[in-house]
Amino acid sequence: MVRDNYLRVKAAVAEAALRAGRDPARVRLMAVTKTVEEGRILEAIGAGADLFGENRVQELERKRGSLPLEGRELHLIGHLQTNKAAKAAACADMIQSVDSFRLASELSRVCVKMGKTQDILLEVNIGNEPAKFGFSPEQMDEELSKIAVLPGLRVRGLMTIPPFLENLSETAEFFSRMRKLFIDIRGKKMDNITMESFDCLSMGMSGDFEAAIAEGSTLVRVGSAIFGNRAYH
Ligand SMILES: *Cc1c(COP(=O)(O)O)cnc(C)c1O
Repeated sequence: MVRDNYLRVKAAVAEAALRAGRDPARVRLMAVTKTVEEGRILEAIGAGADLFGENRVQELERKRGSLPLEGRELHLIGHLQTNKAAKAAACADMIQSVDSFRLASELSRVCVKMGKTQDILLEVNIGNEPAKFGFSPEQMDEELSKIAVLPGLRVRGLMTIPPFLENLSETAEFFSRMRKLFIDIRGKKMDNITMESFDCLSMGMSGDFEAAIAEGSTLVRVGSAIFGNRAYH
């Protein structure tokens, strides 16, 4: 079941890329494994999964220890409290959910101490929703210019969870705004910052990954379509 679901989603990702005139190799598929037990994750690994996402540090740490992750990546995708920054940096290949300058500074401090360069994404609250974490799109330039110069961090791009809407074309409008923001930032010449490694746009989940790929997503985060009990499509 997990195997079939994974392969089906993988094929749908590639088809969506081709429909958008994009190279399927430039869109990564993350299997979101929060609350999923190890046995079912091993099934996904058997089907070829090589990128995993967890939204809590404690579960991330446990799975780092119990899964065969050599040659595979495990990312943190959920809100991170500042006091857990060191633990997250010790077990995450990438932290996609950096949502404040305070958190970025603390990550920088602990990574310098650990001698690690930590890949991060900045989470954007593209719908400016009061209850959601993330930088507002209007803040991005200013925040990025402060964060990109922090030692021990490499800003690899942007991540977003758009507002939940029934109508997929409205969701696509938020993906489109993210694409513009991403391209604007990449095109910018910032003082003493190299943006060469700013190459990741993480957006799209089970219900909307095809729309996200059409708008330039380079990494889709898919949970229920792979591990849910309901077969995908
Ligand atoms: C759970 C989660 C996902 C996956 O959502 P599905 O709808 O199950 O595919 C993606 N991103 C984040 C940040 C999540 O917490």
